[in-house]
Amino acid sequence: MDTPIEVLHRVFGYDSFRAGQQEIIDQVVGGGDALVLMPTGGGKSLCYQIPALVRPGTGVVVSPLIALMQDQVDALRALGVRAGFLNSTQDHDERQLVEAEFLAGELDLLYLAPERLRVESTVRLLSKGRISLFAIDEAHCVSQWGHDFRPDYLALSELPALWPDVPRVALTATATPATHAEIAERLGLQQARHFVAGFDRPNIHYRITAKSEPKRQLLDFLREEHPGDAGIVYCLSRSSVEKIAAFLVEHGIAAVPYHAGLDARTRAAHQARFLREDGLVVVATIAFGMGIDKPDVRFVAHLDLPKSVEGYYQETGRAGRDGLPATAWMAYGLQDVVQHRRLALEGDEQHRRRQALHLDAMLALCETVSCRRAMLLDYFGQPGSPPCGNCDTCQAPPESWDGTVAAQKVLSTVLRLKRERGQKFGVGQIVDILLGKTTAKVLQHGHDSLTVFGVGSELGNAEWHGVVRQLLAHGLLAVEPAHGTLVLTDASADVLRGQREVPLRRDAKRPPRPARSSSSGGSARPAADLDPDAAARFELLRAWRAATAKEQGVPAYVIFHDATLREIATLCPTSLSQLGTVTGVGENKLAKYGQQVLETLGTDPTDDPQGTLLP
Ligand code: ADP
Ligand code: ZN
Repeated sequence: MDTPIEVLHRVFGYDSFRAGQQEIIDQVVGGGDALVLMPTGGGKSLCYQIPALVRPGTGVVVSPLIALMQDQVDALRALGVRAGFLNSTQDHDERQLVEAEFLAGELDLLYLAPERLRVESTVRLLSKGRISLFAIDEAHCVSQWGHDFRPDYLALSELPALWPDVPRVALTATATPATHAEIAERLGLQQARHFVAGFDRPNIHYRITAKSEPKRQLLDFLREEHPGDAGIVYCLSRSSVEKIAAFLVEHGIAAVPYHAGLDARTRAAHQARFLREDGLVVVATIAFGMGIDKPDVRFVAHLDLPKSVEGYYQETGRAGRDGLPATAWMAYGLQDVVQHRRLALEGDEQHRRRQALHLDAMLALCETVSCRRAMLLDYFGQPGSPPCGNCDTCQAPPESWDGTVAAQKVLSTVLRLKRERGQKFGVGQIVDILLGKTTAKVLQHGHDSLTVFGVGSELGNAEWHGVVRQLLAHGLLAVEPAHGTLVLTDASADVLRGQREVPLRRDAKRPPRPARSSSSGGSARPAADLDPDAAARFELLRAWRAATAKEQGVPAYVIFHDATLREIATLCPTSLSQLGTVTGVGENKLAKYGQQVLETLGTDPTDDPQGTLLP
């Protein structure tokens, strides 16, 4: 029997374990239970796949992601792992085949949808085979307080009674302490060892930019930093998803929409294209993304503000699972704050309070003048991180300025407009008054005779919008629920009386971009910092991979990850044994694709008559 590290080398082609993996694997291989909290992309899968390969019997993996099981199994089979799945998408014959393989002891891993475990026949089937471990993926689905409860997961509490000697490992990337405790209780894992990994995703560059022309800004971002890359663009509503997807296509970017209003078949087709094609952009609502383990998502863009930091972190976490540079980009503006402040006024008292807390945390992240990553980590219970050097505020620290007088001007304008009963004025009117613009609407209401008329010439239109946005974000202005007009808050009075200072952030005119070719702040293009020859080889390999993936009907990353292609392009191996040293090239893939890779590079050893280059 191989040891875990031998399996890591031979099957997966990786050099070493990542933080936490070895301990978790040792625990499960030794027959113990484990509860694992690890960020997206941290490497959770190996924590049960390797024990399943080391221990005798079949590892049973419970996962809610039915639509992705086929791909997961394909990826394992490409590594030479004997894997199968049972779910409702299969017909009777397919299911029987997998059942027979399981009973014959011919499966290393069996993926199961949780509802299968509620079916008596499945329990009977499992009892007749030999099980090496149970892995419970997306374990937060068992928590009723979490954001993604699935009643079928409750059946998992039966496992210890039915299989007392089979170790169980539960895994999730969702981390609040309350959810953690509930998972342990419901799955009977109080006695299990708990493993909590750090939450940092150092290869992700975070950037939050002031929204002015969102479509144009998105297009510039994609063209300048991510041409030809796969990524996800999140929007709040179905209609904006459709509009943005159409806009991108119009401008020559391969993009598809995804939201709950599309029929199931279209959704599945768009998801499959995203997984299979190189460089497709999915424009989506938050309905998209859970369990998408495509490793080479190079960016996640938000055109609307997420409701919470948890949501933001989970969504941005889908970028760069392969560890290569990736970008989390967001355009955020005044309208986002107005809209969310309004949304947060809906529902019952408890709901409103929770929404407001979530929103305040999210807004604080947007408006911060210090390191965004440090703030995120602090939020997830890791305080005191030093500035990261790989976020916009680290790379171009925003100036803060004393906005007290500007705030007073805005607040007194709001105060004066409020006295005009029955009239609703938006931010535009307030700014026009401050700038002293004699628009039709200003003249109609006699606003040119207000004492505040024209007192704001020291700032421009965009800057005044920025001031109003920050006052809203800091709770110095509020949105009136019925009409969405601006009103003063209790805290406003302190500012008007001069009893409170208002430090504000100066929005960058042209937001900074990550510096090229440094390891932490490098470009997110996988080939951008390669020398020209290696970059050319990378593109050749990418083309070969796309053709091979298409031929086999699997996603490109099932063949090799970008990171692996990069390393091959740089090394330019001239023999199979040399190729075998590359991270991500295991025994099976070397045998299957090695020759083709060497041919693609033009270093095919069959060109070498003496055969001196053969391993
Ligand atoms: P998670 O499920 O935690 O989001 P995955 O298990 O999908 O993460 O792993 C993320 C990526 O990291 C995958 O592409 C995986 O192949 C890779 N990976 C995991 N462990 C290692 C390792 N020890 N060395 C190199 N790559 C690894
Ligand atoms: Zn930073």
